[in-house]
Amino acid sequence: MSYSALQSCRCPRCHAEYDATTLLGLCRSCGSPLLARYDLDAVTVGPDDIARRAADLWRYHELLPVSAPEHVVTLGEGMTPLLSAPRLAEELGLDRLWVKDEGALPTGSFKARGAAVGVSRARELGAQRIVLPTNGNAGAAWSTYGARAALDVVVVMPVDAPMITRVETVATGGDLRLVDGLISDAGRLVAAAVAKSSGRWFDVSTLKEPYRVEGKKTMAFEIVEQLGWRMPDVIVYPTGGGVGLIGIHKGLSELVELGWLTGPLPRLVAVQAEGCAPIVRAFEAGATESEPWPNAVTTAFGINVPKALGDFLVLEALYATGGTAVAVTDDELLGDVRLVGQMEGMFLCPEGAATVAATRRLIGQGWISTDEEVVLLNTGAGLVYPHSVPVEAPTLAADGVLVLPAT
Ligand SMILES: *Cc1c(COP(=O)(O)O)cnc(C)c1O
Ligand SMILES: [Zn+2]
Repeated sequence: MSYSALQSCRCPRCHAEYDATTLLGLCRSCGSPLLARYDLDAVTVGPDDIARRAADLWRYHELLPVSAPEHVVTLGEGMTPLLSAPRLAEELGLDRLWVKDEGALPTGSFKARGAAVGVSRARELGAQRIVLPTNGNAGAAWSTYGARAALDVVVVMPVDAPMITRVETVATGGDLRLVDGLISDAGRLVAAAVAKSSGRWFDVSTLKEPYRVEGKKTMAFEIVEQLGWRMPDVIVYPTGGGVGLIGIHKGLSELVELGWLTGPLPRLVAVQAEGCAPIVRAFEAGATESEPWPNAVTTAFGINVPKALGDFLVLEALYATGGTAVAVTDDELLGDVRLVGQMEGMFLCPEGAATVAATRRLIGQGWISTDEEVVLLNTGAGLVYPHSVPVEAPTLAADGVLVLPAT
C-alpha cells in the first residue's frame, strides 16, 4: 500500500482529467479549480489503523496528496480539540454542541492545515517560489510552512489585515507586500505578476492549486474520528473563500465512499458577515454562483471575500446536504466573542464567533432543532484579533489599595 492513494486531479466543472505528478493550477479548458481524486479501492487501512498513528493530520496520509513521508513539511499540525460547550449549549437550547478549536494550530488558524499540505506537495513537485494574496492568516501560514520547506514566499495582503499576521509573515521570512485594497485586488496583482514570471513563481492563491483544500478536509476527518467515526447533524462554518466548507464536504464524501462512515452527511451551514455575504445572497436566490459583493467590509477579516473562485462548489455542498447560508452582523459576532469567552473559557476568533450567532438564529427559526448534534468551527485563535474585545481596567498606584468586589 503506498503512502498516498492520489490518482489524478479532475475539473469539477468540465470533468477534464489531469496527471497529478506535475504542478497544477486551474483547469486549462474552463478555468475552474481542480480537485484531487484518490483510488479509494487501493486504501487497505481502516479506522483502527488510523487510531494507532501519531496525533496529527498526516495520520490520514493515504487520503492526502503527498506521495512519500520524507516530503512532509510539518510543525505538528492537526488533531485539534473537539470541545464540548455545555454552558453555551444550554444558553442556545441545545443538548449536544461541540466546538472544533482550530486556534490551537501552528500560526493560530486553520490555514496551517492547507499550508502544511499545500507547501509539502508543491515542494515535492519541484516548486521553489510561491506567491499568494491573503486576508492575513493564509499569508502567515504559507510563509511559516514555506520557511520550514526552504521556499521563497511572497505574501500580498490588504493594509487593513490583522497586524499580527503581518508580524508572523515577516518573522518567518516572508516577503510581505501590502495593498491599499481588498483581497480581490491583491489576487489580481499576484495573477499579473505570476503571468509575467515565466513559470518561476507558483501561484498558491485559494483554490488556484488543488492541495490547500486537501489539507482543510482533514478538519472533517478529525471531527468524525473524535466523535467515534460518526457524523453530527449539522456543521456550521464561517465561509470566506469557502475552501474549508468544500474540504469538509469532500472529506466526508470520501469517507462515506470508503465505507468508514454511513448515513446522510451533516447539513452544512455557511456563515458570512452582513457586510460581505455573496454566498448567502446566492443561496437565497437558489443560484449556482455568486455575484461580487460591492464595498465588502467586516471585522471578521478571514471571511471578507467579495467573490470566491470556488463559490459554485460551496453552493453545491450546501444544496447537496440540505444545508443553508446565514449572514450575521459584526455586533452579533463580537458579542459572541465575549459571551463564549466568559461562558466556556474559549477565546474565539470573530469568524468562529459568527458560527455561534448563526446557530442561535437557526435555532430560533426552527431550522436546527434542539435535539440535534451541532459542531461549530472556531477557525482561529482569538489572540490573533486582540482588538475584538475592548479592555477597560483601572490603574492602581503602586502603593495604592486593591478593593475586591463585595461578593
Ligand atoms: C480564511 C479564514 C476563514 C475562511 O476560510 P475559507 O475556508 O476560505 O472560507 C475563516 N476564519 C478564519 C480565521 C480564516 O482565517
Ligand atoms: Zn474544466
